[in-house]
Amino acid sequence: MKRYIIYLLLFLCICFLVPIIFTASFRIASVNTTNNEITVEATYDYKQYKKVKLLHKKTGKIEELPFEEYIYGVVSSEMPVTYEKEALKAQAIVARTYTLYKIVQNSSKHKGADICDDSSCCQAWISKEDRLSKWDESLRKQNWNKIVNCVNETQGKIITYENKPINAFFHSNSGGSTEAPINVWGGSGYPYLQSVQTSGEDAYSQYSSDATVTKEEFEKTIKKAHSNFEIDFNDKKCIEVKEYTEGGRVKTIKIGNVELSGVEVRTLFGLRSANFTIELDKNNVKFKVIGYGHGVGMSQTGADSLAKQGQNYEQIIHHFYTNVEIQDI
Ligand SMILES: [Zn+2]
Repeated sequence: MKRYIIYLLLFLCICFLVPIIFTASFRIASVNTTNNEITVEATYDYKQYKKVKLLHKKTGKIEELPFEEYIYGVVSSEMPVTYEKEALKAQAIVARTYTLYKIVQNSSKHKGADICDDSSCCQAWISKEDRLSKWDESLRKQNWNKIVNCVNETQGKIITYENKPINAFFHSNSGGSTEAPINVWGGSGYPYLQSVQTSGEDAYSQYSSDATVTKEEFEKTIKKAHSNFEIDFNDKKCIEVKEYTEGGRVKTIKIGNVELSGVEVRTLFGLRSANFTIELDKNNVKFKVIGYGHGVGMSQTGADSLAKQGQNYEQIIHHFYTNVEIQDI
């Protein structure tokens, strides 16, 4: 009798689950007909993007790669293999989403290519061969398998907001607080990219750094961008932060007779982030910098830190991207 009940339950499960699985995989391309309004939720079909046209920035060559194989190369280049598996899985989904967003946007940034392999422009990528050669021979197999498994275990998953893939920005270390994109690039939009706090980021080497320039170099560098620049280092108020961002980075700073954004100072002096303080001594200007990168979206060290605290890839993604969904496509 018991056996019949089990068979009956199994039969009922199949009846319910099969349609759910099938409808879920096609949800993104579905058409919403409620209230007689026809709104196409998304105009793309992920399955048509089987290849990625990758521009190799150094050589100028464009290589066409199978989509998921390209993701192996991004994850293994963007995140240390020693990071927690849940962090690597989050990175795989973020990289996949970022790539798909770039393809769908189809901007003319790289003629003939979808994306490039420069981390300061798009996202880093490394070939399997080059990646393996950088690992100790005894670790090659297990390291590569770890990357491949993390990517495969999240296959087809992307992050969406209102059913569209998000612009999944990421960076190295947020310094404890991520940044709203308006404070980095200006403009508006991206409601899913809010400033969020993450604990444990200070345990990583990317958290703090210093940079020192002579007062002479300092003056010269600013003068190149602002020809009217003048500064009297004897004036105690010659350098003064005027405003901070929600993420605690320098928004505007008065240096001598000019006002600069924190992002501009970061660029001019090659600082790791716009979260900095400035100290003067007899001959030098010293920057103390917290965090690494623009600070928008997922922090990679933050993802690892959250994974170490027991969070899974879904929780990590929901932490860094506000009100998003992770969808199977
Ligand atoms: Zn690029």
